[in-house]
Order: sequence, then structure tokens, then C-alpha cells
Amino acid sequence: MHCPVNRTTVKVAVAALSALVATGLAAGCTTGGGGGGGSAARPGPDWTAASTPAPSARENGAGAGTGGGEAGPPDAAQRAAAYRKWGLEPLPAPPAAPAVKPVRTVRTGAERVPVISDVPTKDKVVFLTIDDGAEKDPKFAEMMRDLDVPFTMFLTDSAIRADYGYFKPLAALGNGVANHTLTHPNLRTLGAGEQEREICGQQRRLRETYGTAPRLFRPPYGNWNEDTRAAAGRCGVDAIVLWRESMQITDMQYQRGDRKLHPGDIVLAHFRGPADLKGTSMTEMTANLLRRVQEQGFTVARLEDYV
Ligand SMILES: [Zn+2]
Repeated sequence: MHCPVNRTTVKVAVAALSALVATGLAAGCTTGGGGGGGSAARPGPDWTAASTPAPSARENGAGAGTGGGEAGPPDAAQRAAAYRKWGLEPLPAPPAAPAVKPVRTVRTGAERVPVISDVPTKDKVVFLTIDDGAEKDPKFAEMMRDLDVPFTMFLTDSAIRADYGYFKPLAALGNGVANHTLTHPNLRTLGAGEQEREICGQQRRLRETYGTAPRLFRPPYGNWNEDTRAAAGRCGVDAIVLWRESMQITDMQYQRGDRKLHPGDIVLAHFRGPADLKGTSMTEMTANLLRRVQEQGFTVARLEDYV
């Protein structure tokens, strides 16, 4: 249902490290805490080290795995098995989250909310975003638990009102919950006050339901104007997120003429089921998407680590 694409993309400049440290932004994106820019020692995702042979103790059932009682990240063999279950090869692990987010979202004075369709990075990563929330396929929740592929959900109240609960386990996996308005209108047809009601209203609802206020907002159909930016800022949104590619059933639509993924691209998909996908399920569509990412030598990283 995403029709016209607004190509007015405001590229957000890579902010200077010193400026970020000065404004304290780093506090929002590093877990290491102490001292500016000091997250160089931050370990990558644990499963990059998964060339270690799988401890077969895991298979004996007794207290699974690597470090004793706790359920650690999966090793390579487990990951491969999880991907095989869905007809896929494992995606490469994404690089460690950047120490300083390439998209700066701290604003001062009259600065407007940034609008992005991609993220400036050289990492061979793309970001997966899934919109609306109409389809609530339990198999999709199972798939994303198995694969541990990060994504951001842009949720619309009118699409999920009947079952906000479906998205809770997905959020509990660490996937971002983001704002996609109360009723999915074309915001360009609305005045400033109505736009603010759509954005702030859904901001409130998502905060009440999932516990934290969303930082990211996507206007339906990618349609926005300056009233949208102003309203988003007043509602507490850090960035307006558009996209570069949109996933259909088996293939992506590309905005650029070269029809290729580029580092930092944001990919749009939808919570859709067979009725909207000519019989294809949400999990088949997702598998197709991951294949398109993989065959171009990319992997999927977490948008919130970069914005
Ligand atoms: Zn939408």
C-alpha cells in the first residue's frame, strides 16, 4: 500500500566526534559508559567467534552450553541449523555497533528533525523495517526468534489495535518499536494540528503499551511536509525514517537506477499475509528478502545502533 515515494531525502551529515562527545550523545548509544569515544574495546557480537567447535554438551541437555547455566548466544552450528529450518544460509554477523552513531539526532535550537532514507556508513549492512502491523503470523515471530535478525517495527494503531500483544515478544527480542501514526493517513492532506494528533497520539499509545516512547517515526506512504517535521519534533521523535528499497513478494523495488543495495540502506517491508502477497506467507516473503540481502554481500544490522 505504499504508493508515492517522497524522494526528498535530507542527508544527515556525519557529525564530528568531538561535537558528539561534547553534547553527550554518546551516552545514548554505547553500553561501555565511561569516557568519550571509549568503546573501542567493545566486543563484537559473540557469534562472530563461533568458529569455536560446538560443545556437544549442549546436546546432552544438561545445562546447555558455553558458560554454564545461562543461555548464551548460539554457536555456529546452532545458527546454521536455525537458518536451515527456514531454507536459508546464515547471514554474516554484522560489525559491532559504531561507537558514535552516524546519524546525529540531538537537536539544538531551531534544528529540525532529520529525515533519512539511508545511513552514512561504509559497513556492508542494510536495515530492515516492517510497517503497519496488519498480519500477525505466529510463524513470523518464531522465525525472527530463530534467526536473530534485527528489525524495526513501524506500527499503526488502527492496524494493531485488536492485538497489541502480538508485538510484545518481538519487542522483547530487542527489536525496535517505532511510530507509524494512529490511522495511517496521507499526512500531506492534513493540517498541522491533525498531524500532531496522529503522531503524538500513537507516540503515547506505544509508550503506554510497550514501556518506552518510540524515537523513530515513519509517515505513511512516505508522505510528509514541514508540518510533519515540526509535529514530530513536538511529539518527541528523534528522526523521520523513509527507505531506499521496498520489499515486494520475491524481489525488491529499488529507488536508485543501479538496482542494488548500498551500505546503510533502509529497506521497507510490511506485516502482510497471503491475501496481500498472492498466496506467499510472511515468513516466505522474509526469507526472500534475506536472500536478496545475502546475495548482494550484505547483512542486516540494527537501525537504532546507527541512528
Ligand atoms: Zn504504512
